[in-house]
Amino acid sequence: RAKTQQKGSFAFFEPALLERQVALLNLQQDLRQAVERREFRIHYQPILRLEDRSVVGVEALVRWQHPLHGLISPAEFIPLAEESGLICDIDLWVLRGAARQVRLWNAGRAAPLTLNVNLSAQHFEDRRVVGQVRAVLEEEQFSPTLLHLEITESLLMARQAHTVEMLGQLRALGLAVVIDDFGTGYSSLSYLQRFPLDGLKIDRSFIATAQWQPEVLRTIVQLGQHLKMYTVAEGLEDEAQAEHLRALNCEYGQGYFFARPLPAEDLGELLRLPEGPAQALTGE
Ligand code: C2E
Ligand code: MG
Ligand code: MG
Ligand code: MG
Repeated sequence: RAKTQQKGSFAFFEPALLERQVALLNLQQDLRQAVERREFRIHYQPILRLEDRSVVGVEALVRWQHPLHGLISPAEFIPLAEESGLICDIDLWVLRGAARQVRLWNAGRAAPLTLNVNLSAQHFEDRRVVGQVRAVLEEEQFSPTLLHLEITESLLMARQAHTVEMLGQLRALGLAVVIDDFGTGYSSLSYLQRFPLDGLKIDRSFIATAQWQPEVLRTIVQLGQHLKMYTVAEGLEDEAQAEHLRALNCEYGQGYFFARPLPAEDLGELLRLPEGPAQALTGE
């Protein structure tokens, strides 16, 4: 009898769903050890000035090299890391590693690359983040003026006074703060001017060919100009999109059309950057 009951209760679950729940639970446990086991990798995607297609900077994007499951995308594990509070450690680890790499690249460049790093909304709950970011920049001897922190639009809705204060403190370090995936949140346009921000990254959903929205794009670029924020188009996948955004006076672009996110060595090679990580480690 107990058996049939057990069987009955299991009937509520799709076997595939249950498997997935178990898999996620395991991943969450693995995630705790991943930092110490050095299983995270940083990939870099170039950001270009649309006017002349010169590379002005890179965005650091984290990946998880899982010993069993291979390379896991951040879309998969960032939500888990946020649930367990591990995201703050991961973000600071990415900031440190990327600052170290970009400093090496910049040592041989006339025009230094800027570095964009994603910062989870959870950091804004904790005032210590300002000191943590400053400490990493000092330890890595990375100029704050080259750092652009990317935050999500949802931050602008919750705890506004606190967010304004945090933004002010971070920007007082000399770095820039930009809104990522702009247009996907629910912030009204009038909200935006209350926040001290430096740039807008236009979400790629407005650019994807299937839902191409030129009027929305034009409006966002004009909004950016009006508020003295620079604009970046995310997810540019072909020549026509890149040219169209340039014609709309969007300053910068990023996307598979230019380059996918790549390991440091590969991007260094692609851009003929002076120092890849291999040389950096062996001192060659
Ligand atoms: P994001 O910050 O908006 O990063 C851009 C995402 O778009 C990246 O996905 C990138 O690979 C992808 N992408 C770039 N160009 C194209 C394109 O032309 N077409 C398409 N379809 N996609 C493109 P990725 O690397 O999978 O990262 C997903 C998200 O995970 C990021 O979105 C960011 O929100 C989050 N993330 C990544 N690294 C970190 C991190 O170190 N810390 C935190 N807190 N979040 C991170
Ligand atoms: Mg981003
Ligand atoms: Mg984005
Ligand atoms: Mg995103």
